[in-house]
Amino acid sequence: MILKGFEDLKSFLAEPKKVVIIGHRNPDGDAVGSTLALKHYLDKKEHQTTVIMPNDSPDFLHWIPGSKEIYKFDKQNRQAQRAISSSDIIFLLDFNALHRVGSDMQNTLEKYSNDFVMIDHHQQPDDVTYMYSDTEICSTCQMVYQFIEMNNDLNLIDHDIATCLYTGIMTDTGSFRFRSTTSKTHRIIADLIDKGAKNDRIHNNIYDANSYNRLLLLGQALSNLQILPSYKTAYITLSDDEKKRFDFQKGDTEGVVNYALSLKGIIFAAIFIEDKEQGIIKISFRSKGNFSVNQFARNHFEGGGHDNAAGGKSDLSLSNTVTKFTSLLNQYQQELETSYEI
Ligand code: 5GP
Ligand code: MN
Repeated sequence: MILKGFEDLKSFLAEPKKVVIIGHRNPDGDAVGSTLALKHYLDKKEHQTTVIMPNDSPDFLHWIPGSKEIYKFDKQNRQAQRAISSSDIIFLLDFNALHRVGSDMQNTLEKYSNDFVMIDHHQQPDDVTYMYSDTEICSTCQMVYQFIEMNNDLNLIDHDIATCLYTGIMTDTGSFRFRSTTSKTHRIIADLIDKGAKNDRIHNNIYDANSYNRLLLLGQALSNLQILPSYKTAYITLSDDEKKRFDFQKGDTEGVVNYALSLKGIIFAAIFIEDKEQGIIKISFRSKGNFSVNQFARNHFEGGGHDNAAGGKSDLSLSNTVTKFTSLLNQYQQELETSYEI
């Protein structure tokens, strides 16, 4: 755990400030939940806050309180640039390195002359002025709760803040089932329900919001599933044509990789998704036990993340990316065999 400069930050925030809060590109439930929860909290402390995301989140996150006020750097560039240049401080939430916002926004942030605060749970964080980094914590939303707790302000958590925080904790823990879910996480969730988070509604809004096409795309993904029992590995591919056939929308492939990991005996899963627009294959990796997909993604696919959930990309074709992946497995056979006793 790294906690750097928080007493100074407290003094800095003792007077009302113009604050910008930023999440990573392709924001997920934890990025949207944590940035908006922090916004609602800092608003209550009389600050003037703006949340900016590099691009839009999937539709199933648009109901989160405050979501409509988020500036998208790609679409509302002028407003976003203005908010950044007039701000006194910028919070970076749910990402560990400036490149995670994409190159356009990264260029803007690199020219920023005031201080950054990072609150994040990914490994190998960049060094900024104020840091709260803890890779043991399941979600940035839990960290925002603990940040509010450090400021002795838990009494300020209202329905909106509780809803935002519940959402990010729920999505980043796979609904409270990953290893990172602790008794403390459950105590925080209990408190958030007491403070107004409607657990059944939140689950419904996130997980029962499928379009028919999304289910058909899932069907296609499952029929493309390949299993490599000797490596305890399974992977899924989705080509651009398949995405088009089922009217792919942002967020439609979220969670699909977990079906590969749900197979009995499988401890390493990947999904390869062709993105012709960007000219890349976007990859998600998941694992069980000690096999670090963060390291695997860093070493071979220009990515990173957490030990059991990471992402990366490839500039090769879909089939060459899969060939690269499968031919790497041999060198990890020993590790894959012993990483998780089933
Ligand atoms: P997902 O597979 O759901 O896109 O991402 C899983 C985890 O890996 C998330 O915590 C995400 O922030 C991280 N991640 C995804 N893609 C990348 C990437 O290209 N680079 C890095 N450093 N992290 C990534
Ligand atoms: Mn997160």
